[in-house]
Amino acid sequence: MKIVRSIIAISFAATTSLPSLFASDELAQRLEPALEAITPDGMLAHLKVLASDEFEGRAPGTKGEELSVKYISDQFKQIGLKPGNPDGAYTQEVPLAGIKSEPNMSFVIGDKTIALKYPDDFTASSARLQPEIKIDNSNVVFVGYGVVAPEFGWNDYKDVDVRGKTLLMLVGDPPIPDPKDPSKLDDKMFKGKAMTYYGRWTYKYEIAAQKGAAAAVIIHETEPAGYPYSVVRTSWAKENYEIDSANKNMDAVGARCWVTLDTAKKLLTDCGQDYDALKKSAIAKEFRPVMLKAKANIEIKQQLRSFKSHNVIGKLQGSDPKLRDEYVIYTAHWDHLGRHAELQGDQIFNGAIDNASGVASVIELGAAFTRLNPPPKRSVVFMATTAEEAGLLGAKYYAEHPLYPLDKTLADINIDTVNPWGKTRDIEDLSDNNSTLDDLLAEASKRSGRVMTSNSEPEKGNFYRADHFEFSKRGVPSLYTRGGKDFIGKPAEFGQQKRDDYTAHHYHQVSDEVDPNWDLSGAVQDVDLLFEVGYQVANGDELPEWKPGTEFKAKRDATLKK
Ligand SMILES: [Zn+2]
Repeated sequence: MKIVRSIIAISFAATTSLPSLFASDELAQRLEPALEAITPDGMLAHLKVLASDEFEGRAPGTKGEELSVKYISDQFKQIGLKPGNPDGAYTQEVPLAGIKSEPNMSFVIGDKTIALKYPDDFTASSARLQPEIKIDNSNVVFVGYGVVAPEFGWNDYKDVDVRGKTLLMLVGDPPIPDPKDPSKLDDKMFKGKAMTYYGRWTYKYEIAAQKGAAAAVIIHETEPAGYPYSVVRTSWAKENYEIDSANKNMDAVGARCWVTLDTAKKLLTDCGQDYDALKKSAIAKEFRPVMLKAKANIEIKQQLRSFKSHNVIGKLQGSDPKLRDEYVIYTAHWDHLGRHAELQGDQIFNGAIDNASGVASVIELGAAFTRLNPPPKRSVVFMATTAEEAGLLGAKYYAEHPLYPLDKTLADINIDTVNPWGKTRDIEDLSDNNSTLDDLLAEASKRSGRVMTSNSEPEKGNFYRADHFEFSKRGVPSLYTRGGKDFIGKPAEFGQQKRDDYTAHHYHQVSDEVDPNWDLSGAVQDVDLLFEVGYQVANGDELPEWKPGTEFKAKRDATLKK
């Protein structure tokens, strides 16, 4: 089926005005045959297979994994991609461990012991692959937000040695009021109301590990966390996954805990402190850790099992003998939540939108790139990652064991969910405009008569919650988008309604299934744009860069200097 491409329509329609139009026409002509490979029918065909009941919700380490890995590898092969692993395989083995934990936690203040109730008052887990974690009599210290952010001149720890201690910390970014208008947050500090990585719980546990703390305890508060305590409770109560590293993750903090706000308040009161006063003191640069009179006892019994999972990787070799050793990578996670035998009725989390749709897009992108003649100068890698739902583990493993050097990887373009409800005038940039990739996307959108809009919910920290983030963290510029809200031929509120309906009723539910009412023409529009951005990087003269003030720029600069 031949799709009429807006990129062609726009550039041919106005051949007289801008000087850049020649370049744009030429670009359109070069890309047109490739773009024809990306179609709604093609995407739907992949989606139907990956989200079928037969694939059992694609949980890592199950029959669903076997089928998914085989399907994606076969597709990569069929469309002409070479094996992405230099060892000749289409897969990268990812050693994973499943962990079920039974935690106990208590605080001792003088001669008084406060035993917490699991999971009502707290959760505790460990990434360390040991059958038992035991933390005895560890001094508890309140470290405010627990943040070290040199770009904001911020260090909650100062010169205090917290080794072996239990860190009690606040969730979210330090909310610094604007000195000119204290009713607002200061845009210059931690990006105002947007969330930075310093606000994520993953960061808090990482910095605790770097500081040599025994345990990190985050005080849950619904608003800055972005979700109620019930989400924390259910997500840590089931089996969780970690990478089964050679060091058994002994470099991770011993215990990762959450406590409810009430539990924390009570503990602090018993220590002769006041929660609100401590919280207030923590939004100043001068904040210093506060030693509490409490000692923590944490014990976690862990049931462990090891298994192998897989990232699926295909590669298109670049055409320039020199530049082909530089890479653009597209990623989308193939895994989802699997099958839950305890459910009545439908037990299968088909994960059609999340994220069979992203994998379908990456396969279509692969097909498009292989049609380019000549291929782009640089190599393009296509990867379907495992265990994203368990904490970006497949992407993390790749980033820790890259098959192509990260300092030669110019960009990661990640797709996690597409818009299945038709064409839109807009595409939403979830990357918070933090690198020049966002500029490329804005230009590509404009060329095709569309518009790139900024993240509509920056306070949710979406950028830190998908696979590309594992690349960003290690300095690789990355791009992450979602479908727009301004639908062509639909009422103004249609987009938001569809989005809210998906979040409320289908996100991470068994009902995330292929729907006969879908119209994937909008998804194709978006994937076309991501194709163009990747092409521009793979073929262009300018290397993508982080913009000043982003958390990842220093890391990239340091990596490139080596
Ligand atoms: Zn997802």
